[in-house]
Amino acid sequence: MFIVDSFNSSALRSALEKKMVPAMEFLKNRGYFNESCVSVFPTMTPTCASSIITGASPRDHLVPGFEWFCRAERRIVNYGSSPLAVWKMGVGRAVRELLFNLNHIQLSSKVKTLYESLEGAGFTTGAVNPYIFRGGRPYRPRIPLILQLAAGFGLKGKLRGPGSLFLGSLCPPETGQRLKMLLSPRYYWKFGFNDQYSGTVGRWLIKKGNQPDLLTIYLPDTDGYSHRHDPNHSEESLKSADRQICKVLGAFQSWDEALEKNTIIIVGDHSQSLVGKDGASMVHLGRELAGFSQAALGRESCAACEIAVCVNERMSYIYILRDRERILPLATEILKGVRGVDQVAWKEGDWCRIIQAGGGELIFRPGRDVWDQYGQGWSCKGQPSAAGARISGHSVTFGEYPDALAQLYNALGCENAGDIVVTAKTGFEFTGDWGPTHPGCGSHGSLHKIDALVPLFVSGEAFGTSSPRLLDLAPFIRSRHGLQ
Ligand SMILES: [Zn+2]
Repeated sequence: MFIVDSFNSSALRSALEKKMVPAMEFLKNRGYFNESCVSVFPTMTPTCASSIITGASPRDHLVPGFEWFCRAERRIVNYGSSPLAVWKMGVGRAVRELLFNLNHIQLSSKVKTLYESLEGAGFTTGAVNPYIFRGGRPYRPRIPLILQLAAGFGLKGKLRGPGSLFLGSLCPPETGQRLKMLLSPRYYWKFGFNDQYSGTVGRWLIKKGNQPDLLTIYLPDTDGYSHRHDPNHSEESLKSADRQICKVLGAFQSWDEALEKNTIIIVGDHSQSLVGKDGASMVHLGRELAGFSQAALGRESCAACEIAVCVNERMSYIYILRDRERILPLATEILKGVRGVDQVAWKEGDWCRIIQAGGGELIFRPGRDVWDQYGQGWSCKGQPSAAGARISGHSVTFGEYPDALAQLYNALGCENAGDIVVTAKTGFEFTGDWGPTHPGCGSHGSLHKIDALVPLFVSGEAFGTSSPRLLDLAPFIRSRHGLQ
């Protein structure tokens, strides 16, 4: 399974037309292809990757985004969203958060990763450059000297991953292959967290005869490329991701043989959409809520703070740290009037309320009044248009916001999520004191289909659904191995 970070369907369409992506074209012609697979909300990599590899929504896997507030530790968690964020937190904290805490503390121990399920049943698994890798085998990562220096030599500890785990230069391949790769410094660019490393190590593993039953290969580069360009035109980056897929397929005698021997999946974690060029497209929610005292990144003590604003590019969480009864109505009233805000949503008991700025209002919860295309039942009161939905008879259908009710219900139901969810209108992006911003370039995070729909290829095995979601992949892979 290849995971392309920030896989944009219109860029793929254009790359296919221009014959830039031969491996994807081959797999598309030889299997299942759908360019509208629904990601999970928020459309941020830690959340999406957790769902791909566990099959659980954020309600169960508990990873709510790239930046969130940990209520138990009373601090903001950030996996290194920008250089300024890393500096504010300290390098040691940023590396520890992404490598150790995300996988071994924050990802719920109540859900199983595919590596855990499959290895528990006697299968072998491996992963190259994954975000989520929790498994049973201990690894001691080699933290590069420059990171050790920056972190004050505070980075120690073991990781537990699948039988074969490769994390850039932190968990590199064995010496012979490592030396070969060192001859091409490009492989160690970004400490090895790049497409070339992923493709090279994936191919080497197969060539050596060590291909595990499940191998996931994460291709990170299209995310950075799309954040620096128009994401609807990331063809050049998809071309180089495709080159890595060619490299891996080329480890077999022929591409046909690769397909005979494997089920091959390519999927995006989320897409990206274009943000306006001007400063007016950047919305600083912290400033809009300046009337409340706010928690800050890197500051451990926030006993007196009223709220925490956690920005995830085109969505944000507002955590209410005290006086919820007083602050929630005040904050939501302000937020729905902020330029660039699309939707504001929060929980009211077991109901969710969503307000579309300048539009309707809907409250909903799981029920048996109307049914969506995924077989989920809902009770709704108010205007379904607030969630871009339409109700006709006993069915609810979605338009601009695919799977909107479950997406919001599962995001708000995650115990690590904020009290209020805010999404940005098309072309807008939220920002905070420590960035990042992407004026005139790509961004993601929202519920809208421009961030949430990704291409999905499944070749070598029948994959039937006409309305695929990221959540379907782990159950599909488990069922192929005879597991529930
Ligand atoms: Zn991104």
